[in-house]
Amino acid sequence: MKNKEKDNSKEKELLEKELKKSFFNLKFSKEIEGKFREYLYSQMKDFMQFSILLGIAIYFLFGLLDYVVYHDVYKTLFFYRYIIGGPPLILVSYLIMKSKTEKQIQILFTVSLIIAGLVIVAMMAFLNDPTQRYYAGLTIVMLYAYIAVGLRFRYTLFIGWSLIVIYFVLAFFVKRPDESFFISNFFSLIFFNLIGMISSFWYEKSQRKMFILSSLVELERKELREANKKLKELSITDHLTKLPNRRYFREFFSREWKIAARNESSVSAIMIDIDFFKRYNDALGHQRGDMVLRKVANALKSITRRGGDLVARYGGEEFIVILIGISSKAALKLAEKMRKSVEDLKIIHPDSSISKYITISLGVSTIVPANDIDCDDLVKAADEALYEAKRKGRNRVEKKEVKKA
Ligand code: GH3
Ligand code: MG
Ligand code: MG
Repeated sequence: MKNKEKDNSKEKELLEKELKKSFFNLKFSKEIEGKFREYLYSQMKDFMQFSILLGIAIYFLFGLLDYVVYHDVYKTLFFYRYIIGGPPLILVSYLIMKSKTEKQIQILFTVSLIIAGLVIVAMMAFLNDPTQRYYAGLTIVMLYAYIAVGLRFRYTLFIGWSLIVIYFVLAFFVKRPDESFFISNFFSLIFFNLIGMISSFWYEKSQRKMFILSSLVELERKELREANKKLKELSITDHLTKLPNRRYFREFFSREWKIAARNESSVSAIMIDIDFFKRYNDALGHQRGDMVLRKVANALKSITRRGGDLVARYGGEEFIVILIGISSKAALKLAEKMRKSVEDLKIIHPDSSISKYITISLGVSTIVPANDIDCDDLVKAADEALYEAKRKGRNRVEKKEVKKA
């Protein structure tokens, strides 16, 4: 419990630190970054897989444009588009569908867009077109990278600028277009890229901020849940013995009493009191007394192992046991077993009139609940039986019938 709390507050601290980092810093600290990537992958995977299928469809359909715009050479363009570009793109798409991590999917998507870009540049290199109309294809690839996919900033950056460099190399060294077209294309690409960068950066920044905020909310919710649970435990547990306290006993007992009445099953109460406990405290001190209470509590608890049984601390050195669905004889037997188990602890009692050791007295009562019997009557009968055990010399079990009103 304590460790959990520590982990939570440490994580919260780390998350809050991220909110304070500079605006231009995208990357989180190592612990948070790993979680963010997982979150991103779970959020984006379906969308990215849809995007690649759509992208591939667009890529293949653009063959129509090849046919219309460059009708005389469309066969060569088809060769580039379908024979050279087709298989690797289909392979990469397949891998994207099979991807397992955020990094895989991002890299594979980057590769697919670079392949598409390279095919377009190869077509331009082949075409004898001084206007280089297909440079527009590069803007489509960039557009895809920047907004239609969900790639992170660094990958979009890589795609955008690599395509510009490739285009520049082509236009400058391989197929020089008319200068005015080149300048116009080149600057369009650059500005297109710059705008894309801003949008992509802003998008990733928002995603990261959302992740941090939602993680903080989730963490606070968790803290609240844990605090509530702890509060509940505290309110129903006896601090010293860790047994359920009297308050819980009351709740449990009245609930079980009703169920037993419906099922016509028997309910037994065993009232237990440590013998000459005041003298023990007087002789050895309160702290040693507390230790005895804990040991006795454990001994009693270890005997009732069935799920439905309850052992609770009833008061100072008194305990109560509730057993459901066992006979009066079995309850007596169990009480005797408890008595013996405490005696067998062999805790020296320096001032007991009846034994060298700490002992307990027990009063047992069993009944099948009926309309005219109150659950308190059972406890009262067990208490009277306990009194009887004390009177008869202590360290013994007595039983008593419930008196019907
Ligand atoms: P009897 O055999 O008749 O039960 O005698 P007793 O001395 O056990 O009974 P009594 O009711 O006179 O005294 C109960 C004592 O239990 C008084 C108190 O010092 C002790 N006691 C009650 N609660 C605690 C506790 O939480 N810790 C410790 N150490 N002692 C407790
Ligand atoms: Mg007492
Ligand atoms: Mg006592």
